[in-house]
Amino acid sequence: MQYPEPIAKLIEGFMKLPGIGPKTASRLAFFVLDMKEDDVLDFAKSLVNAKRNLTYCSECHHITDIDPCRICEDKARDRSIICVLQESKDVIAMEKMKEYHGLYHVLHGAISPMDGIGPEDIKVPELLKRLQSDEVQEIIIATNPTIEGEATAMYISRLVKPTGIKVTRIAHGLPVGGDLEYADEVTLSKAMEGRREL
Ligand SMILES: [Zn+2]
Repeated sequence: MQYPEPIAKLIEGFMKLPGIGPKTASRLAFFVLDMKEDDVLDFAKSLVNAKRNLTYCSECHHITDIDPCRICEDKARDRSIICVLQESKDVIAMEKMKEYHGLYHVLHGAISPMDGIGPEDIKVPELLKRLQSDEVQEIIIATNPTIEGEATAMYISRLVKPTGIKVTRIAHGLPVGGDLEYADEVTLSKAMEGRREL
């Protein structure tokens, strides 16, 4: 069956989202048709606003609407520790835990030679630059417990250790192969507590 053009476009749009196949996309599209017009407008606006008004912090590379971000600007945070993470979503997971009060550094990926992703393709050079300040005494590497995450941790550790900055890796109560953002708060808190020196 051919859909009228406007709904076909909407289905196409939903299918660009991760994890959405044709069936779910058409269910969502028909759901939108049944929504109140105001709600649809609000939703459309929030999509555009999120895209237009969000940027990446020039210090930690976390997603933000102001630069530097609120975490980097917060004078109460411990500037001697930087937690290194793969994605902005991981910062949100860490912040939910409410136990970590240092700074962050978002790499935006992990080293993966198989996919042609090297240290220069993620925010590793930016991290090294930040470490030149005398303030930093420890970096906690909290990349995902995957092959790529481990490779990234080892790579960074090898570069940073000679500088005398303590390099630790979070413990693995975390499921191997899992994503940090899906770890519950207790697991994450235990993983931070049990971090070991690399
Ligand atoms: Zn920041």
